[in-house]
Amino acid sequence: MGIFETIKQNTDVPSVAGRYGVSVKRNGFTNCIFHNDKHPSMKLYKDHYHCFACGAHGDAVSFTAQLFGLSPYEAAKKIAVDFGIAYDVEDGVSKAHPRRNKTDEAVTLLSEYITILEEQKTKYTPEIPGEEYHPLYEESLQQLPLYKYYHEILTTGNKDERNEILNERRFFNELRAKIRHIGMAG
Ligand SMILES: [Zn+2]
Repeated sequence: MGIFETIKQNTDVPSVAGRYGVSVKRNGFTNCIFHNDKHPSMKLYKDHYHCFACGAHGDAVSFTAQLFGLSPYEAAKKIAVDFGIAYDVEDGVSKAHPRRNKTDEAVTLLSEYITILEEQKTKYTPEIPGEEYHPLYEESLQQLPLYKYYHEILTTGNKDERNEILNERRFFNELRAKIRHIGMAG
């Protein structure tokens, strides 16, 4: 049995959340960790979680991955260590280079979002001079430079510069949630 299945059978989402300092209300709700949640929208069930605001959905492993900015495999290993769960070591998977993967994931996220913003910008470009800007056009204008800047550093910067960007965990967590949200809406 692989690590993911082992974790699934030996833990549940509320215990993992509780162990990692996420406060859960009596009714099982907590502030969503995938979007900027003002009041608890995420319900923790034994075998999964679901956010009624942004639609985030998953299990104890993806919850932990999001919470600590880890890959699913790293998150599963963390749970195994923290909960003292023994698992079979599978060949191949454990040789990954977490930092490299993180950069790749961040670059992918940024590229996806830049594409979304570019499309939005084109779609909502004012047709008549002097016309009031569409909010999405304005948003694209404001946000594109930052995302392009981050993208450029991650693809051309040195190690220190890249790490500086990668340490913006909250930024990337929110970006991931945003893209997921757009993906579901469209
Ligand atoms: Zn949410």
